[in-house]
Amino acid sequence: NYTLGPKITTWDSDRKIWLDRNPQFPATVNGKPRVLLVTGSPPNPCDNAIGDHYLLKSIKNKIDYCRLHGIEIVYNMAHLDKELAGYWAKLPLIRKLMLSHPEVEWVWWMDSDALFTDMVFEVPLGKYDGYNMVIHGYDNLLEQKAWVALNTGSFLFRNCQWSLDLLDAWAPMGPKGPVREEAGRVMTAYLKGRPAFEADDQSALIYLLLSQKDKWMDKVFVENTYYLHGYWAGLVDRFEEMIEKYKPGFGDERWPFVTHFVGCKPCGSYGDYPVERCLGSMERAFNFADNQIVELYGFRHRGLSSPKIKRIRNDTATPLEFVNQFNIRRQAHGSR
Ligand code: UDP
Ligand code: MN
Repeated sequence: NYTLGPKITTWDSDRKIWLDRNPQFPATVNGKPRVLLVTGSPPNPCDNAIGDHYLLKSIKNKIDYCRLHGIEIVYNMAHLDKELAGYWAKLPLIRKLMLSHPEVEWVWWMDSDALFTDMVFEVPLGKYDGYNMVIHGYDNLLEQKAWVALNTGSFLFRNCQWSLDLLDAWAPMGPKGPVREEAGRVMTAYLKGRPAFEADDQSALIYLLLSQKDKWMDKVFVENTYYLHGYWAGLVDRFEEMIEKYKPGFGDERWPFVTHFVGCKPCGSYGDYPVERCLGSMERAFNFADNQIVELYGFRHRGLSSPKIKRIRNDTATPLEFVNQFNIRRQAHGSR
């Protein structure tokens, strides 16, 4: 039977002792829990060079968001466990990072095909005291056992024993080959709307949480008051309208926090949508987000489809007079 590694049972108390002994690595920074954003892409080049270009845009977008909000970031390109290749690669990685960084309170996984589109919004971590996992989804879809009830493209795990236990229960459905194939058949039979294919991490998580509801669900926060994950198809055509009516900071349908290109595979060969539509939409989402960055420096993209920027204000010989006005960090801290 497959395991992620030696069974760990005393992580909460071990971690607490470590934190007490290592005050130079506190689990809170400036009064906020320490967060590590984790993302990555396959070890080899994309099938098409344009895919690698969009991976670069995607990590640029995440670096910008994380820099502005004091979040640490890890980019992984290795398969830590060859049995858990592909979308399952995040599981051993998350576990390894929890164990290697006991100072981190929350590990936040984000897919390479998900972009931050609200550079001001912050995850309201205080809301999740008492919870160990935060994931976008809908309770009514969960009740219906829909395979899209939750989305594993962007979710947070608290660094604690419960999370290690959940990973231990989740991973055995993932080993490539007959195990993953058979688990896929079980999930297609169990979940509503799931096409027949090998087990993916998202179906497996929903299956696990539903089939062992009493064991897990009281620590899972199913979030939908903002887009921790937002399905791109309903969002990218509305960016102009959002710009006209709203401003960054809402994180919801008015100004989506994360836009996730589910079903697009710019790095691989088979997606559910035409590749031109995916790339064009990603370009729009990237520039929509990037405007919020370059505007801080006095520029704006020439259009949502243009990588080119234009100047929107003149430089000044007294920049410090204006510096507070153009700083997302200070805005996010309440002086907006
Ligand atoms: N991923 C990875 N290594 C791989 C394959 C995937 O790190 O070898 C990550 C990547 O960030 C990707 C996510 O896992 O976005 C989910 O994988 P999936 O195949 O579902 O890709 P997506 O449809 O999200 O592009
Ligand atoms: Mn994805």
